[in-house]
Amino acid sequence: MPPQPAAAAAPTAPAQARSATAPTDLATSVLRRPLPVNGPLDGIVPDVERHILEPVVADIARLKQERNAVVLAHNYMTPDIFYGVADLRGDSLQLARMAAETDAEVIVMAGVHFMAETAKIISPDKTVLIPDPRAGCSLADSITGADVRQLRERYPGVPVVTYVNTSAEVKAESDITCTSSNALRIVESLGTDRVLFLPDRYLGSWVAGQTDVEVITWDGACEVHERFTGAELDALRVEDPSIQIIAHPECPPDVLDAADYVGSTSQMTAWLATNRPERVVMVTECSMADNVAEEAPDTEFVRPCNMCPHMKRITLHNIRTALEDLTHRVEVAPEIAERARRAVDAMLRAS
Ligand code: SF4
Repeated sequence: MPPQPAAAAAPTAPAQARSATAPTDLATSVLRRPLPVNGPLDGIVPDVERHILEPVVADIARLKQERNAVVLAHNYMTPDIFYGVADLRGDSLQLARMAAETDAEVIVMAGVHFMAETAKIISPDKTVLIPDPRAGCSLADSITGADVRQLRERYPGVPVVTYVNTSAEVKAESDITCTSSNALRIVESLGTDRVLFLPDRYLGSWVAGQTDVEVITWDGACEVHERFTGAELDALRVEDPSIQIIAHPECPPDVLDAADYVGSTSQMTAWLATNRPERVVMVTECSMADNVAEEAPDTEFVRPCNMCPHMKRITLHNIRTALEDLTHRVEVAPEIAERARRAVDAMLRAS
């Protein structure tokens, strides 16, 4: 039988008319839906966003129960994640500890890849998921395990202190890890005259300025904190001499010199709760100030912030997908995990 012509399609609205009306109708129907009173994002995001995001938050809450899962969120997550779906929140050290203590079978790391690896190192029997495996880190990418082995050959006997913002492979080559909260304490806990401090040169030089221990640094830097300058902070100070400036120690030295207080993200939060300044500049990633501002309504936040493109790869939508499909699983080879765990455990004991 010769090929038959396809049946004529039923008449439809002209393409131009469809594209002009359909999205508008959809948007209107979404916006007309009543918003739940006291919904999870009430006061956190504008109402127009609540219409879109709260159903995703509800899906995540259901999936967390079904999967026996928790969401761990770093302080640099956006407020919809931080306040909408996170079970546990904090800086790198806090997240490492929480990962060890949770009874959940599944951990979703709303943070970057090295944080998910750290969770897996500490909790090898749990399923650890990262919602977007491309969420990396310029510090973690600045050094490899082979680099550390070469440094050990060059500086025999000098202990290696490694910032947690590194891969499992680099942690495995280290004697002890540290965070920005405890870096000085960890360096001094070793009781040696010299340490190799990897990989953040700015955090290393900040520690070096507070101790008699000789600190040998690596040439890594955080691409977010490195962009701040002392000059921009000086200009803010000229504009308002009473303004308070608090900075993360991953910033360059001229920024730290211009700051009234230097501390990790959790230390900055604690400093704000104690000092309750009228106006403050938080010299760190943008979302940190957004999250802290929710709990400090009397403080005005001046925000010359820089955004971390890696952290911002994590969204409510890919957290939901991670829980639905149990992806993307983070695995660390057992031999590397075992050696890396020793370095992390050494830090947890000394903290
Ligand atoms: S803020 Fe800096 S240190 Fe943190 S994940 Fe981003 S690039 Fe890495």
